[in-house]
This record gives sequence, structure tokens and C-alpha cells, in this order.
Amino acid sequence: MSPRTAARTTHPTWPVLSEAARDVLMELLVHGPMPRAEIAPRLRLSRPTLSRVTKTLVTAGLLVEGATELRSQTGRPSELLHVHGESHHFLGVKLTADRLYAAVTDLTAAVVTSVDEPSRSKRPEDVVAHIAEVAARYDDLTGLGVTLGGVVRDGVVADAGWLGWADVPLAAELTAATGLPTAVDNDVQALTAAEHWFGAGAGVDSMVMITIGAGVGTGLIVDGKLVRGAHGLPPRFSHVLVDPNGPECGYGHRGCASSYLMTHVILRQLDGTPTYEEAVERARSGEPQAKRVFEEAGYALGVLIGHAANFLDPQKVLLTGDGLPLYETARDVVHDGIEDAYEDDPSLIDLDVQPFDFAEWARSAAALAVRSAVTGG
Ligand SMILES: [Zn+2]
Repeated sequence: MSPRTAARTTHPTWPVLSEAARDVLMELLVHGPMPRAEIAPRLRLSRPTLSRVTKTLVTAGLLVEGATELRSQTGRPSELLHVHGESHHFLGVKLTADRLYAAVTDLTAAVVTSVDEPSRSKRPEDVVAHIAEVAARYDDLTGLGVTLGGVVRDGVVADAGWLGWADVPLAAELTAATGLPTAVDNDVQALTAAEHWFGAGAGVDSMVMITIGAGVGTGLIVDGKLVRGAHGLPPRFSHVLVDPNGPECGYGHRGCASSYLMTHVILRQLDGTPTYEEAVERARSGEPQAKRVFEEAGYALGVLIGHAANFLDPQKVLLTGDGLPLYETARDVVHDGIEDAYEDDPSLIDLDVQPFDFAEWARSAAALAVRSAVTGG
């Protein structure tokens, strides 16, 4: 990646790939470098087909023959195929109410550089102009990915109430403004898919993603694929009932898991209008009111995890988000909630708590652009 020097350069174009070539590239992106002898059976490709496909991918600059690895079975060195990460770069942008988080990654979704700037306005044309301005700083981008909280269908932001947007054709407008192929998706769905390709859930068949913070987000991987609803709505199971006498979530429910977990609801129940950090500190130091509120939220989180596991029997449950201090503060009670809700031995639940960094949202938006290029979707 290099900073833009010329006034306006042509963006690198993504090559046209056969389905087999896409599959090989995807396999290596998700599972890492492999010798040919391992790829062929995994993808059920004949050796001649695989040779042809890898030749195309090497010629296109997407793969490189790399270091050798001594195979224990044969004792012979075997050449590994690697994805050539630096061959293409992608810009990811995550929109929030007050800031624009961006990351440039290579083809393997490794972050090359990050941007964190205040948003200028919520008007679609201003947001498009701001993103185009960020994109114009780099002269070798292949694609753009943008994520936000809301309902997104085929590149159109159908509903993002917090921005006051309805039916904004964001992908088309960004392509017009930047000249880049652009993918737009719901932020939690993009994060779920990014973890499934490039993160803690790489290559698993089934996974539940739960993000906690200002809102509660949920995503599902089933049969190795991101679940998309029949109406383009993301899977939302964070409103399972925990206690009919609990707080209100804002969607007309009382005592659903979301109602306990959302940051503003936690803070609303505490005297003295503390910040989230102050509230966590109060709970940790054993202050009774804060301790009770965090324990109730922790229990609700456990019930949510337990029901998600009942529902899917997933290989992995990933938990992340800026509300993670809640888990750390009330861990024992989270596990009480899991035990009460889950119908089997809780040790079957592989709960993977991923440290949260806001830049991960931007990286997952770039990963969306990578996936879009690789799958042609
Ligand atoms: Zn609810």
C-alpha cells in the first residue's frame, strides 16, 4: 500500500476467476498456507484441475509458492501455497453516531493502516463525501466495504434509524464517488463473517456471535455459511425472556436479555449518572447497587448464551464488544445463567471471549470487501 501520489490513478482490478479458483483462494485465506497435496482432497479437485487453477492464481499474483514444510508422513519437503496478501488492498469503514473508523487491509485482512476521525454529519451525501475523501488517500485500493448498525439489503441501507436513513443506496453512491466496487452490510453480520474467515471462528461449521455494548448484536454461522434471513433481516435472538419483571429494552419488551445488557440500561439503573467505566469500577469494588445491576446483566448474558447453544448446538460461541467488562465483572453469574438455561452439560459450550478493540469493526468492514471480491458477491 502506498499513499496516493498522482491526481487520480486507476484502481487495481480484481481478476475474473473460475469457481474452482475462488474455492482454492478462499480455502487458503481461511485455513492458511497448504501444500497442493492437501488442497486437492479438501476441495475434491483433481490434481490436473488444481494445477491449472493454481497456475492461474499465481499468474494473477494472488498466490505465491512459499516456504517448504517437511511433511511428517513422507519425510519429503512439500512446497506450500500462500495467499499473496500484498497483491490487493481494501478499505473498510465502520460508521458510528459520532466517529468514522476506517482500516486498510491487505488481501488476508491484515491491517496496514487505521483511521479514526469524527463524523461530520449524518446526511448520506456528507457521509459518502467523507468516505470518498478517505479512499482518495490511497492509490492502490481494489475494493471498499462499509458497515453500520441497521438493515442492509443488496447494498441499500433499508433502515438505520439512528442515522435517520431509509432506503439509502449507499453502495451505488460510494461506487460512483470512489470508482471502487463497494459492499455494504450490517456491522454485526460483517463482524460474524470476518471472524468466520479471518478470526477466532476461522473455518468452523457452526458459530454463534454475540456482541454486547450500546446494543446487543447476534450473528450465526450454520453449515459454514453466514445466516441471512428470508427478508434480509439479521438473526436477532437477543430478546429472549429472562424475567418478566425486568427492565424495558425499548422494543416493548420487559426483562429480555437485551434489556439487561445494553449499556444505557445498565447506567440508567445506577445513582449518580456514572460513565460505563465508573460503573464497572463500582461493581468491581463491591458497591451493592452496581454489583446487583452487573450481576443481573451477567445472569441475562448467561441465559442468552445458554439459549443460543440450545438452539444451534454450535461449535463455538464468540462473545465480544465494548461491554465485555460486564462479563469479566460478573463471570460466575454468567455461568449460573448458562447452567439454568442450557439443557445439556455446559462444558459442551466452547465460549470464546474475544478481547474487543474498536478497530476490529473497521477491519471486519475491509474483510467484507475482501469476501465480496473473492466470492464475487
Ligand atoms: Zn427486548
